[in-house]
Amino acid sequence: MEKLHIGIDLGGTKIEAVVLDSNLNTLFRHRILTESQKGSEHVLCQIENIYLQAKNSIKDKKHTLGVGTPGSLSKSTGLLRNSTISCQNGLPIDSLIEKKLDHSLAIENDANCFALAESHMGAGKNYDLVFGIIMGTGCGGGFIHNGKLRTGPQRLTGEWGHSVINPNGPKCFCGKKGCVSTYISGTGLEMMINENLKINTSAEKFLNQTSYSQKEEDILNRFYEYFGLSLANIINTIDPDIVILGGGLSNHQHLYTKGLQMVYKNIFCEDPNTPILKNILGDSAGVIGAAIIGKKEFMKNG
Ligand SMILES: [Zn+2]
Repeated sequence: MEKLHIGIDLGGTKIEAVVLDSNLNTLFRHRILTESQKGSEHVLCQIENIYLQAKNSIKDKKHTLGVGTPGSLSKSTGLLRNSTISCQNGLPIDSLIEKKLDHSLAIENDANCFALAESHMGAGKNYDLVFGIIMGTGCGGGFIHNGKLRTGPQRLTGEWGHSVINPNGPKCFCGKKGCVSTYISGTGLEMMINENLKINTSAEKFLNQTSYSQKEEDILNRFYEYFGLSLANIINTIDPDIVILGGGLSNHQHLYTKGLQMVYKNIFCEDPNTPILKNILGDSAGVIGAAIIGKKEFMKNG
């Protein structure tokens, strides 16, 4: 009998579900609001609500279940940490969701889901070693080798967003200073703009401006400088076959020209050629990756 795969992607503002068939074709897709301000029990009910809709769409047929979440489960405590759905931090959300839905599940960080989906169905389809990057509210990443997700013995793989690139830099929520995320995530760039220009604007709006004052250009140059340094650090360490960008800032076209040059400038190699490409699946990558996570053969332990 054909096996079906339900994926649920938990996000700060919306929860999305998808049903894939065994060839990874989409049979059902729907999204609802997270409404995390109403608390963790309400979020669990929202997850149940969308799961039941997905399950009904396939008439309760046998399926696997995968969940993508911001943050990750601590290896030592099993509790969720660093999630932007803050009411879920400190909770054993995998077992809570399993109990609520009465179905076993696999759970992974949302950037890992993004990288897995892109490596199977998106920009990384024909590459062995894929590093997927999310530049959104924060900076996340996922490492895929031969189609399988590598999470690492400490579930740390891909957490490049909290590598320190300037120990005297801005304070990060993780407790350190000058993390990659404080410079090149949407939030980081917005803070840099706010501090230097005393204005509130969105990072995407700023990056899409057609002209810049001298002060704005200084910030823009610093953004590219740190983009180049942080991506070059990844490439120097693992030499991936491709780097795929996702998240809100990945829509900024200059990242693939001027940004690419800044990366190449910092790679320890005289003729760098690592492709740095935009994702293909867009908003769907997270939820498709969650469904794929449920297929155990795509997971690699450790
Ligand atoms: Zn940090």
